[in-house]
Parts: sequence; C-alpha cells; structure tokens
Amino acid sequence: MTSSIVFKSFTGLRHSSQEHPKVLHSHTNPISAFPYRRFRIKASKSSPKLQNRNLRVAVIGGGPAGGSAAETLAKGGIETYLIERKLDNCKPCGGAIPLCMVGEFDLPLDIIDRRVTKMKMISPSNVAVDIGQTLKPHEYIGMVRREVLDDYLRERASTNGAKVINGLFLKMDIPKKGSENINSPYVLHYTEYDGKKGGTGERKTLEVDVVIGADGANSRVAKSIDAGDYDYAIAFQERIKIPDDKMVYYENLAEMYVGDDVSPDFYGWVFPKCDHVAVGTGTVTHKDYTSGSTPNTRTSSATKVVGRVALVGDAAGYVTKCSGEGIYFAAKSGRMCAEAIVEGSENGKRMVDESDLRKYLEKWDKTYWPTYKVLDVLQKVFYRSNPAREAFVEMCADEYVQKMTFDSYLYKTVVPGNPLEDLKLAINTIGSLVRANALRREMDKLSV
Ligand SMILES: Cc1cc2nc3c(=O)[nH]c(=O)nc-3n(C[C@H](O)[C@H](O)[C@H](O)COP(=O)(O)OP(=O)(O)OC[C@H]3O[C@@H](n4cnc5c(N)ncnc54)[C@H](O)[C@@H]3O)c2cc1C
Repeated sequence: MTSSIVFKSFTGLRHSSQEHPKVLHSHTNPISAFPYRRFRIKASKSSPKLQNRNLRVAVIGGGPAGGSAAETLAKGGIETYLIERKLDNCKPCGGAIPLCMVGEFDLPLDIIDRRVTKMKMISPSNVAVDIGQTLKPHEYIGMVRREVLDDYLRERASTNGAKVINGLFLKMDIPKKGSENINSPYVLHYTEYDGKKGGTGERKTLEVDVVIGADGANSRVAKSIDAGDYDYAIAFQERIKIPDDKMVYYENLAEMYVGDDVSPDFYGWVFPKCDHVAVGTGTVTHKDYTSGSTPNTRTSSATKVVGRVALVGDAAGYVTKCSGEGIYFAAKSGRMCAEAIVEGSENGKRMVDESDLRKYLEKWDKTYWPTYKVLDVLQKVFYRSNPAREAFVEMCADEYVQKMTFDSYLYKTVVPGNPLEDLKLAINTIGSLVRANALRREMDKLSV
C-alpha cells in the first residue's frame, strides 16, 4: 500500500480577509481566448460521440487545483461545474509561489503582495545565512494571500464559462462497471448555499460524466473512490500584524528556521504579506491523526484515477515533502488533468474513459517525478537532526547551491549541475556533516 502524508493545519487569523479590498481583475497579462478550440484532433477514438450535448465535468473544490482545472475545461468547450463550499475560503497557507507560476498562469501582478528576493536561513545554533544573491533582477518568489489567489482563479474560470456553485459536496453515486455503463452519469449529492448568513442550504443532485476531485487533503472525492491510505502531518500558521516599521524589515525578505525546537523534520517560516507576516511550522512525522482537526495537505496518494474520476492537487498528494510546496503543483495538475479531458473528448464532443484521464498521470509523472524524488531525499537527509540541519544551512551559503536551489524552485525543473561544482559540493557537504557531528559530540560532552 502506498502511503502519503497529510498536513493538519491550525491557523489563527489576526485580521479578516474583509480588511483587504477585493483585487480588481486588471489583467496585466491578458488571457488568451479559447486556445483549445483551435485543437485539431484526429478522430481515432472508439468512445461514443455525445448527442446534442457536450461532455459534463464537475470539479469539486475551488482552490488553485480546482480553479485552474475549471478554467481549462470551460475554455475547451466542456460543460463545467465548479463546486466550492466556501467562496471566501482563506486557506491556512504560506502563500509562496514560484516565479514560473506567474507567467504560466497569467497571474496579474496586483494579486502578488510581495516579491521576495532575500531569504534568511537560520540554523539550530542561530547561524543565519543570506540567500538570494544569485537571483537575476527580474527573479523573485511571489507571496500571495490565498483568499485573493483562489478567488481570482475561480472568477477567471467563471468568466470563461464555468458554472461556479457555492456548495458542499457530500457524496456521489458511481455508475456500475461494464460496457453498458460507459455513458452512465455520476450523480453528485451536494448542499447548495444561497450566500445568506446562517442559511443551511438546499440538498441537490447533479449528473455529470466526469468528476475531478480538487477538494484538498481531506478529499471526499478521494474517499468515494477508495483512493487509499495516507500518513499524517500537521502544520500551524498564524497571520500576524506587526508595526509598519517592523514590516520594513520584511519588505522583500522571508525567513526559514530549522532545528528541533522549530520542527522535528520540517522548517518554520516567516513570510511577508501585504501588511502582515505569516508565521508557521509543520511536521511530516506526526502519525497520530485521530484527534480532530481538518487535514489540508498530503504528499502522495495511492490512486489518482478510477474510472472517470481523477484527483488533482492536494487530493492527489502533490505537495512536496521538503518544501511543503503545493500551490503551483495543484494549479498545474488541475490544468494538466483538464487538458487530458479536453483532448480525450475532442473538445467535449465525445465521452472519455479511464485511459484518457490516465494520460494526465503519465504526463505528470514524466514531468515531475525527478523533482519529487530530489526533494524527498533532501528532506530525509537534512531535516532529521540538528547536525544535519547545521550542515544544510552551511551548505546554503555556497553560491552554487543557491543558484541550483533557486533555479529549481523558481522554474520547477531539476536543474542539471556542473560536474566539477557537484563534486566540490559533495565534498563540502560531507565536510559540513562531519563538522556538525563533531560539534554535537563536543556539546554532548559539555552537557554531561
Ligand atoms: C500551513 C501551510 C502552509 C503552506 N504553505 C505553502 C506555501 O507557502 N507555498 C505552497 O506552494 N504551498 C504551501 N502549502 C501547501 C498548499 O497550501 C496546498 O498544496 C494547496 O493549497 C493545494 O491546493 P488544492 O487546490 O489542491 O487544495 P486546497 O487549496 O486545499 O483547496 C481545496 C478546496 O476545496 C474545498 N472543499 C473541500 N472539501 C469540499 C467539499 N466537500 N465540497 C466543496 N468544496 C470543498 C475547500 O474549501 C478548498 O477551497 C501550505 C500548506 C499548509 C498547510
């Protein structure tokens, strides 16, 4: 059985999203109109043509995964429904996004609160290393508030034709297996809210041909298809308003803390937002997920496609273990899955089957498998003990390491290294680990 990880999150919001005016959607990057309508797909499919209607797809969950899936589907000629339980959802999240996401998803610059160009890594013994010197003038890590980003993506999906429903997905009736059911619908049960305060909503059903589960780590869609078991982790974040003069320090600076006192196997962060900082920590080793709170990130999941149901984003476990990053991967997987459906259905004209949805997984694994592997190894090697963390921070002072790390993060590729620099790095890393272990032994002796 494949295992995966969930972050339960505990968050405090010192100020509500209402304090920040809604971002007006002034598109600095105009969205290209209906690109998929231009697809010319050779008709070689055996799946039936749909009569008098287009393919119907429901996306459950309106976070980055759901918003981008719905936009791509709607642009591709699919009858698209996006069901989100809380349209002003303010997901507890650091909100750090890589530069490539801004371009690839045409994000308007006014939804990015801060452009971080300096990162301070702080070791268990309080050694601080500044990283970011290798960044080019146009490069930065984007800092967003999730209520702003998610709202923007949902709105854009809606503008392109997706029907956004404020509803809580409850369960679905899955058509029985067998060739006589290849056209049978999935029947979704949900509660629709009318936006009035205190309203309990109205129970409704919706028939669709395909379901995309973009409903986060605690995905009901994943449960409906028995996606499998997963391990658990927890994360905490508080958004804290600090005085303006203190905010100046964080203008374009983020901090990352590593050490047993911060997390047994992860890092703590201070990420700057418009007029406050987001402070958090997490752990990926916490196995006891029995006591209540809602999970909101898992790092891998056993099954991602069953029949005409696919999981994307956190529901599919696409958060990375080392960095806890998942926004870009959520948006990207939502889009990739939707593209596979648009293509497989020939712009909504044909029914799709499991093999069409699986194309998304094949593409995903091909593109991102190395990235996940490298980050898994890094987390295992460097986050598990204070000596290793000291070595990690020491290593981060190296310009070559900084360049490789930032390039990989900002552009989401595992950057091929320079063999000579790699060798130097390996030697330095071993040196750092040996020094850090020797230091620990000396400290242990002193404390006896
Ligand atoms: C504390 C913390 C900090 C993080 N910091 C970062 C960071 O700085 N950068 C980064 O890249 N990633 C970060 N992550 C990870 C990131 O938050 C997730 O990977 C990302 O949100 C996944 O997006 P998603 O769309 O798959 O799921 P989500 O963002 O969880 O969206 C799921 C949506 O589905 C809705 N939903 C759920 N159930 C139902 C239902 N039954 N019916 C209808 N709607 C439903 C929810 O309301 C929600 O809007 C962080 C995670 C945590 C916990």
